[in-house]
Amino acid sequence: MLVATPIGNLGDLSPRALAAIRDADVVLCEDSRVTGGLLARQSIAATMIPLHDHNEAAQAPRLVERMKAGERFVLVSDAGTPLVSDPGYRLVRAAIDAGVTISAVPGPNAAVMALSLSGLPPHPFLFLGFLPARGGPRTAELKRLRGIEHAGLSATLVFYEAPHRLAEALAAMAEGLGPDRPAAVARELTKRFEEVRRGSLGSLAAHYATVEARGEICIVVGPAPEEAAAGADEVDARLRAAMAGGMTLRDAAASVAEATGLKRRDVYRRALELGDQS
Ligand code: SAM
Repeated sequence: MLVATPIGNLGDLSPRALAAIRDADVVLCEDSRVTGGLLARQSIAATMIPLHDHNEAAQAPRLVERMKAGERFVLVSDAGTPLVSDPGYRLVRAAIDAGVTISAVPGPNAAVMALSLSGLPPHPFLFLGFLPARGGPRTAELKRLRGIEHAGLSATLVFYEAPHRLAEALAAMAEGLGPDRPAAVARELTKRFEEVRRGSLGSLAAHYATVEARGEICIVVGPAPEEAAAGADEVDARLRAAMAGGMTLRDAAASVAEATGLKRRDVYRRALELGDQS
């Protein structure tokens, strides 16, 4: 049983979650000190086994064997919904592959709460979890994302971010996705200092360049504007202009791929089609 736990406010631990934990033979958790603290407040003494990125793959087959033998397991994260930027996927996959029936007690999730409070279109939305921590890979990831938007994706984007990286992440997003994109920074959800700050990526980046962010944070970014998502027309226009300017088909495709963030192979294929049509 996958059991969601609070993301800050202990009042969000549901009666069903408590019952599932009480009924379990074993509680799989990220950090037994965190989960132990949560359970102690409910006067529950549980057998806990830590499950994290470093041991999940090795533990999964053994745990599935124990499930098949009839032991009742629950999986919890330190906070929120298991598997969502947290351990559990490999175990769930192994259990499904072994024909073990799994279920869940749904509950708190920071991404969905931030999305619903953001004031941005709630669907479609794309949950991206944490961007790479280092500047180079983060810029590359945002460029890739922008390329997918150029190809037609129009969805609200939801990210997790650490407070000490918020300012640089927002600056990179403003640069990579566009400073005018509407966005929201949701902080300390369900806690005493809960705050949702809404504005353009550029204005949020400017704000957090001077104000230190504390606590836990989600960033929500509104969908790419229509003209960015239109994609195909823009690619065609750029290709035609490049080839009319004397570029070879291959060079035109390379230059348009670079400008739009699209895959060179895809742009080249389109350039060939346009070449055939002329
Ligand atoms: N599984 C969790 C969930 O369902 O939300 C997320 C786990 S992930 C390791 C932790 C990240 O979630 C934090 O770094 C932060 O970005 C986000 N987060 C968790 N709790 C939050 C809260 N109370 N307010 C805002 N963001 C939160």
